[in-house]
Amino acid sequence: MWRPVFLILAVATAHASIQPSELMSNELKLDKYYTYAEMESYLRNLSNAFRDKITLEELAKTDVDHLSVYKVKVSNNQIDGPKKAILLDAAIHGNEWITTTVALKAIYELVTGKNNFLEKSDWYILPMVNPDGYEYTLPKKNDKWMKNRKPNEGGEIGVNLNRNFDFNWDKTKDRSNMSWSENYRGSKPLSEPESLALANLMKELTKSNKEVIYISLHTEHQSSIFYPSVFEGKPTKNNASLAWLAQYASEKIFNETRSKYTHGVPVTYKGTGGTSLDYAYDLGISMAFDLEFGQEKSDDQSLDSFISNRANEGWSGVYHLAEGAFLKIKNGIIEHDCDCNEDEDDAYIAPPGSNSPTDDSDDDNDDCSCKPDKKKASSAGENVPFIGIFSTLLLYVSYTILN
Ligand SMILES: [Zn+2]
Repeated sequence: MWRPVFLILAVATAHASIQPSELMSNELKLDKYYTYAEMESYLRNLSNAFRDKITLEELAKTDVDHLSVYKVKVSNNQIDGPKKAILLDAAIHGNEWITTTVALKAIYELVTGKNNFLEKSDWYILPMVNPDGYEYTLPKKNDKWMKNRKPNEGGEIGVNLNRNFDFNWDKTKDRSNMSWSENYRGSKPLSEPESLALANLMKELTKSNKEVIYISLHTEHQSSIFYPSVFEGKPTKNNASLAWLAQYASEKIFNETRSKYTHGVPVTYKGTGGTSLDYAYDLGISMAFDLEFGQEKSDDQSLDSFISNRANEGWSGVYHLAEGAFLKIKNGIIEHDCDCNEDEDDAYIAPPGSNSPTDDSDDDNDDCSCKPDKKKASSAGENVPFIGIFSTLLLYVSYTILN
């Protein structure tokens, strides 16, 4: 009597774990950094294996090495309805190699993992914004070089792409007007094909009326989630929402990886102009974050464990920033369903454990559901619907057989 039930269970379980044969050759490698050529090959293979979900497009070519700045769109066109757009970029700084691995992991997880992001969002991922700088630094292990490789007037080399965006470009205080500086901003705003390509994509997305969430991956600062304003060094008008979401993501990262991520406005970078973060925010992308992983591997760390750990941390951060956005955010503001803030004009929510400019510090708020909704958060994006359907089906089959 039980045998058919177990047989069905075995078949159903096996079926659930079946993956496309191509998948096996597209496993993400986490034991070393990807070179540009390996990344390009990986993206081509993955987009061939998942033609219905991945579109690979060259946004620009670099001036010096003529390498491609790729955009990977990951989406499910079979599902209609308004969708959010998640814009993720990596390796805008040449020496931040791990960020490319994180971006590749994001692509891989989106098409193979147990999440339902593609039902409600399209992802636009630039896994290597600065391929010339990346390729220059990777073999030399020169971990200081952040710029691209463009020759400047006067013989100096390179533009820091994250000083080249058209927002307070000419007002910076970190020697970015000096062509020898690692922060050199370039000859004019968006002078570089790499930064221009990213800026144009931001404009395109904002014009599409999609709600956009921007996440830029970096490594120069210790594990942190930053949000605007970089230049002003002070909170923006939706700071409480940005802080809420960053706090939510940092809690999730810690729960999953035991790594601590701080969050806030990057006041240490106050006076820095031309950043992609401020540019995105100025365009109207009010949910904009820099996710910082800390320095690249030190000599006493094994490369494979470093890459594997950082990739998991990075995906956890990206996942939960995006997931948190789906929970509550609308029009750049965290929406909430509690009664602690009944003023319609006051759309801010205090991040858990902190006071915001609009937080009345009322003790009554401590129990308010403005805090991250743990129950929703733990289930959103995971495989709960599938498990539910599977369990129901199994019960029905068992019931039918046993009767
Ligand atoms: Zn950086």
